[in-house]
Amino acid sequence: MVRKSIAVRVTKDALRNIRKGHPWVFENSIVSLSQEGAPGDIAIIFDERKRFAAVGLFDPFSMIRIKILQHGKPAEINEDWFREKINKALMMRKELIPSQTDGYRLIYGENDGFPGLIVDIYGESVVIKIYSLCWIGSLETLSGLIAQAVNAERIVLRMSRQVKRTEFLQDYEDGMVIYGKELEGPVVFCENGIYFYSDLQKGQKTGFFLDQRDNRSRVEKLAEDRNVLNVFSYSGGFSLYAARGGAESVTSVDISPYAVEAIAQNIKLNSKDKKISGCKFRDLTGDAFGMMEELIKNGEKFEMVIIDPPSFAKSRKHRDKALNAYTKLIRLGLKLVEKNGILVMASCSSRIKAEEFDDLIEKTAKKESVKLELFKMTGHASDHPVKIPEAQYLKCAYCKIT
Ligand code: SAH
Repeated sequence: MVRKSIAVRVTKDALRNIRKGHPWVFENSIVSLSQEGAPGDIAIIFDERKRFAAVGLFDPFSMIRIKILQHGKPAEINEDWFREKINKALMMRKELIPSQTDGYRLIYGENDGFPGLIVDIYGESVVIKIYSLCWIGSLETLSGLIAQAVNAERIVLRMSRQVKRTEFLQDYEDGMVIYGKELEGPVVFCENGIYFYSDLQKGQKTGFFLDQRDNRSRVEKLAEDRNVLNVFSYSGGFSLYAARGGAESVTSVDISPYAVEAIAQNIKLNSKDKKISGCKFRDLTGDAFGMMEELIKNGEKFEMVIIDPPSFAKSRKHRDKALNAYTKLIRLGLKLVEKNGILVMASCSSRIKAEEFDDLIEKTAKKESVKLELFKMTGHASDHPVKIPEAQYLKCAYCKIT
C-alpha cells in the first residue's frame, strides 16, 4: 500500500497533550495539513518551530483524526517498528497470563502503542479487531508479524460498527479470515483450566469477554455452597467458574438465545470436571430486567448475585440513562440476594467512574434499607494494562449483604 506523508500543525493545547504522551489528536485540534489525507496515511506533527512532535496514522472518518504511534523522536513506521511493539506486548503477557490459559489479550490498543486496534489470542487462533480505518493498510504486515510471534494457525478480522459502515474497506469484511486456515465454527480455548467455545466471527467483542478473567477467578473463590444467579451471562463465563468453585446451583440469564445455547455447550465441554458436572444449572433466555422482576415475584433468593450488563453509556449523552439502568439493576439485585449473600456488580461504561459507581451502590442500598459492605472494587484483567484514563472502563464491585 502506498502511504502519503502529511505534515500536520495542531493547536497549542493539543501540542501540550501530545508532549504529555497522549495518543489522540482530535479533528478540531488540527490547524493545518500539508495535503488532504486518506485512511492510514502517515501524519507527522510539527510544532510552531517546525520541530518534530509525533508521528501517527491519519483517519479522515474519525473524530480522532490522528492516532499517534510515536512521540518525541522521529521513526519510520515500518515492519521493524511494528515487530518491536508486538514483541514487547508479548513479553509482557508472558509474565501476566496464568497457567492453563491460552485465551488472552495480546494488544490492548493505545495501552500497547496501537491506538484503535486490539489483538486477542484464542489458542492457535487470533482476532485482530480494528476501531479505525487507519489500520486497514497495515493489516497484511501486522497479520504476518503476529502470526509469526504467536505461531498462529489463523487470524480473523473484526471491525467496530463505525469502521464497518464506511465504504473504504477495500476487500475486507467483518469476520473474514485474513491469514491461515478457514474456520469451521467456534474455536475452543482454555482459561484457568476451564474450556470455552468462542465464536470469533460472530460472537460479541472478539468472541469472549477476556477482560473479566480475573473477576471470574474471584467469583470462583467466593461461590462455594452458594446458589448463584448470573445475570447478563453471555456464554456462561462466571457461571462455570462459580460451579467449579463449588456453587450448589447456577441460574444464568441472557437475552441472546445464542449465548444461552453456548452455556450448554460450554458445560458439556467441561464434563470431566466433577464440580462443574455436579452443579445444577438453569438457563433463562430473556430481558434481564423482566426476568429479575419475575424471580422476585416467585419469591426466589440467591446467596450470590452477579450482574455484568453491557455498556449502557456509549456516549456522554447516554450517561443519565445508564445511571438509571444501573440503579434499577442494583435495586433488583438487592431484592434477590439473601442476607450474608454477595452481590457482584460490574459496569463497563468508561463514562462512569469507580467512585461514582461505588456511590450509586451505597445510595441505592440505603434507599432499599439494605446494609452492605462493599469489600472490593476491581477493574479488568491484568492483560488489559491501562496507560491512559480513557482505557479504564471496567469496574466490578463486591458487596456483602450484612
Ligand atoms: N458476563 C459475561 C459478559 C456479559 S456481556 C462474561 O463474563 O462473559 C453482556 C451480555 O448481556 C451479552 O451477552 C448480551 O447478550 C446480554 N444482554 C444485553 N442486553 C440484555 C438484556 N436486556 N437482558 C439480558 N441480557 C442482555
